[in-house]
Amino acid sequence: MDFNFDPEDEEFRRQFRSWLENNLGDEERAAHSPDPLGEEGASWERRLHWHRKMHAAGWAGIGWPRQYGGRAASLTQQYIYSEELARARAPQLVNGIGILLVGPTLMQWGTEAQKQRHISRILSADEIWCQGYSEPNAGSDVASLATRAVEDGDFFVVNGQKVWTSDAHHADMCILLVRTDPSAPRHQGLSYLLVDMRSPGVTVRPLVQMTGDAGFNEVFFDNVRVPKDNLVGEKNKGWQVAITTLMFERSGIGTRADLVERVVELAKLARRPQRNGHGAWQDSAVRQQVTRLYAEATALKLAGFRQLTSRVKGLAPGPEGSLLKLAASELNLRINRLAVQLLGAYGQLVSGAPCAVEGGVWSYRMLAARGLTIAGGTSEIQRNIIGERVLGLPKG
Ligand SMILES: Cc1cc2nc3c(=O)[nH]c(=O)nc-3n(C[C@H](O)[C@H](O)[C@H](O)COP(=O)(O)OP(=O)(O)OC[C@H]3O[C@@H](n4cnc5c(N)ncnc54)[C@H](O)[C@@H]3O)c2cc1C
Repeated sequence: MDFNFDPEDEEFRRQFRSWLENNLGDEERAAHSPDPLGEEGASWERRLHWHRKMHAAGWAGIGWPRQYGGRAASLTQQYIYSEELARARAPQLVNGIGILLVGPTLMQWGTEAQKQRHISRILSADEIWCQGYSEPNAGSDVASLATRAVEDGDFFVVNGQKVWTSDAHHADMCILLVRTDPSAPRHQGLSYLLVDMRSPGVTVRPLVQMTGDAGFNEVFFDNVRVPKDNLVGEKNKGWQVAITTLMFERSGIGTRADLVERVVELAKLARRPQRNGHGAWQDSAVRQQVTRLYAEATALKLAGFRQLTSRVKGLAPGPEGSLLKLAASELNLRINRLAVQLLGAYGQLVSGAPCAVEGGVWSYRMLAARGLTIAGGTSEIQRNIIGERVLGLPKG
């Protein structure tokens, strides 16, 4: 494992930090959402504005190849980039699904016409994308999905329902996994379509999460006509394309170096005078819990470096990604849970409540944290992967 960044990477850090210092105003910082999944309606416009500013300066999709408008930044530089964004408390860019998942998938599988039509619009956020995989009866086991597409001349006609579709209420386009051959074995009868969300027959119904945000949706498809030109890969071979997208999703979620910073914030919270003029920090049991979380967050950051180092050496992301995803999402939950415990009754006050501590950010984070243990593969599924593919245990 190598802890040092080379001079080229340090120069990259210096350039990006200085750009952020000169361009990130207070208004943009206000759009900083307290959690990666947080998405207040009003902040979308501010995030979009920020995205356009970053894009104009060449700071969106930095890992993309230059021919598609990226900087071909190395993995190390991508890590530095996310560290600097977190340090500056910059808002999240919009179109995460487009940039992290759809663009790279189209670069690998798309026809030339599909690349021409979509790729630059994804990066600029002129085209917002969502991911239509999960259904009411197909989540962890997504290959059991039931949404059907039937051929009709130059079109597929789609009927069915997707659920938990993040950003569908903002989206112009959707990557949609559908069943085109119900008689084939489950993984062999699927196809991967690009669907215009404004097509007649598409209905989007926002779902309100326990944070109060409506970040994801139910999406209904009622005789939606999709041109055959929008098929990615071959008909009935969509699973291979879908797996490529999932690989990009999993390799992007793992590292949460920001959790160390989060525990530092937790320690500050514990020092606030709360009980009889004293902070909970006076209690050695609280200090031990915070210190333990700090040690775990540091260990996780170093484990992230180890994965980064092996990928920089050219090794493909392996099932160890599941270790990071599991550890980070569960640790995030425990950090926020302790914060809410320390706040006592105040922990129930959400953003906007007059007496909410620190604007209710901890209760928001606590409520949002559970979603991270589910999105991108639940903790139980990660444990199965670790058991079977890392530890070599027999299949359950
Ligand atoms: C914030 C958020 C955003 C999301 N965004 C999107 C999106 O944009 N697009 C999209 O398509 N989906 C999205 N999802 C859906 C997500 O992919 C699914 O929720 C996830 O895959 C789990 O599927 P499920 O909810 O159907 O639960 P199920 O698969 O029904 O699981 C229910 C429970 O059973 C457990 N379980 C299931 N199978 C096993 C097993 N084999 N062994 C042990 N335990 C098991 C699970 O761990 C879970 O606890 C999002 C989810 C969240 C929380």
